[in-house]
Amino acid sequence: MKRTPTPSASRVTMVEPCYSVTMNPTQILQAAILSFILLLDIASSIVSPNLPFGDVNVVVLTDVHSWVGGHGTKEPQQDADYGDILSFFERLKEYSLINGHDTWFVVNGDWIDGTGLATNGDPSKLIPLLEKMPWDALNVGNHELYKKEVITYMTQPGGYVEWWGDRFLTSNIVHTNSMQPMGNPYRMLRGRNSTVLTFAFLYNMKDNDQSVTVKEVESVVKEAWFKEALRGEEYDAILVLAHMGAQDPLLAVILDEIRMQTGSSVPVQFITGHTHKRGYFKNDNVSASFEAGRFLDTVGFCSFPNRATVQAVGSNATNLFKHTFLDANVQVLTDTIGEPKLETENGSDLSTFIARVREEMGLEENIGCVEQFYYTNRSLDDEDSLWAFFRDRVMPSQENRNGLALLGKGSWRYDLPAGVVRLDDAIAVSPFNETLYEWKRIPSEIIVALNETLNGGEHLPYLPLLPNYIMASARPFVAVGDFYDVLTDVFEMPRIQEHLTDLFPEAGPAVRLNDTTTSTIWVNFFRHNWLCRKKESTKKPGLHPFGPSNGTTPRITERDPQLDQFRLVFACVAFFAVVLLASVNVRQRGTLYSATVRQREQHTFDALQEYEGDEGPFQLVNYGIVY
Ligand SMILES: [Zn+2]
Ligand SMILES: [Zn+2]
Repeated sequence: MKRTPTPSASRVTMVEPCYSVTMNPTQILQAAILSFILLLDIASSIVSPNLPFGDVNVVVLTDVHSWVGGHGTKEPQQDADYGDILSFFERLKEYSLINGHDTWFVVNGDWIDGTGLATNGDPSKLIPLLEKMPWDALNVGNHELYKKEVITYMTQPGGYVEWWGDRFLTSNIVHTNSMQPMGNPYRMLRGRNSTVLTFAFLYNMKDNDQSVTVKEVESVVKEAWFKEALRGEEYDAILVLAHMGAQDPLLAVILDEIRMQTGSSVPVQFITGHTHKRGYFKNDNVSASFEAGRFLDTVGFCSFPNRATVQAVGSNATNLFKHTFLDANVQVLTDTIGEPKLETENGSDLSTFIARVREEMGLEENIGCVEQFYYTNRSLDDEDSLWAFFRDRVMPSQENRNGLALLGKGSWRYDLPAGVVRLDDAIAVSPFNETLYEWKRIPSEIIVALNETLNGGEHLPYLPLLPNYIMASARPFVAVGDFYDVLTDVFEMPRIQEHLTDLFPEAGPAVRLNDTTTSTIWVNFFRHNWLCRKKESTKKPGLHPFGPSNGTTPRITERDPQLDQFRLVFACVAFFAVVLLASVNVRQRGTLYSATVRQREQHTFDALQEYEGDEGPFQLVNYGIVY
């Protein structure tokens, strides 16, 4: 019998194919009921997302910097974790499949350096969490390229780069030894309606680890492979992941070359990042840049037309480039989906996995408390300035009373929320864990001149209310006739060494401090200073490198459902075995007791007979005991 499968628009896994066969009335009724149930299932799976869908749709994450666990209850407007984002995308994808949309999911680099999930160049706990995300294209940020350990871990056989395969894109990063691309230079995203040629660029980074080379964008766009990619296979639009700001001049370099090779009608959507802002910019009539925040505060969504639509609508095509910024908040994502429930099974599992890793690493350990919120972007005169908190509270607590820190204003990365300070809150303030260096006994007049020199240059635009360098002394600073031990981090040390040598050649080279880093200075401060009135109970410390014990790091593995089932069965068997043994034991005890009672009765009977033989009949005396 010839069987003809009927295509279905529903979820593939839920719908059995229907076949053209001869059926009796009962079978027809059963089929009708089944079809009705399937229709209900399809209807229940259709969501109506409140998003500006177009020909090509992209969900965007950028500069998450390991905030995959979200910001929790302390910052409830950003409470979504990667599990929630995964649920959100899975529901969008389901909707897109049913409604014929092409919806892609991309991440634009800088996934490390932000929380305690990955410190000291060790991304081994973070990467398994990232690998649960169904990204279609991944870019590399500058933060992944500072440390050789991170690059080595990513590129090892069977590692992160191999895991993502052709989705891991690096259009201008090569291995220095081989000059071969670190990832795939480009890929085609093939959807139902459109094929999208996709690249991934990093800005012209210079201070990366030497094991990789970041080629200048200006030269890469002139290379043959780039032109061949643009002129080769057919495609309907171009997507460029670019780890650089939404208005970075390098975007124009890329766009100019694209226009030169392809003409003015190809839609080009840039996904930008690195400046940690929400941004949107129209580059020309059919090109836009879209930047979706930082630290998992934003889930970006943008859409754009394909080439055929552009040709059909002419100059109106520019209005078909759309975008929206969604707060990474569970309720916002739920409302956007248009259904009461956001969570999917995969999303829920990932949230559980993230929470478990964080717990086992000890990141939830309460190490201190602050009574108010402190912000990185406030001026030094503001009461809620994190830098003023460092200057007025952290540095004065240092053992070396002559210590004087001179640090760049970018050293502290995140705000300190009010309330109990978890280990991870302290690490988020200072995640780089950089080595500190010190110059002993520097005259205060030299320090004043050094501070003026460092702050005399161009004022850096980020954190505009703060000077470029901030001075914080363990004891009140006396500007004349005193001496201090000046310390800074490894990042600033070369620059300060240069200026200090000019001002005071006797200073000599800086000496490395072995017992304190830019992270432990905060962690240790909170461990010894509880700044709230009430002492809360502390959670069990984990085995994070910044934890109180430096034992071996626990091996954290993903929860295995089969293993869990086995544990459940084992627990049930063990329980019933205990019950069985207990009942056997009770029966045995009962038998033994009966035998003992019978034995005692016999003894009593024998004794009674003996007694009555001597004394006459026995009289029972009631002592008031109730039996
Ligand atoms: Zn970043
Ligand atoms: Zn960056």
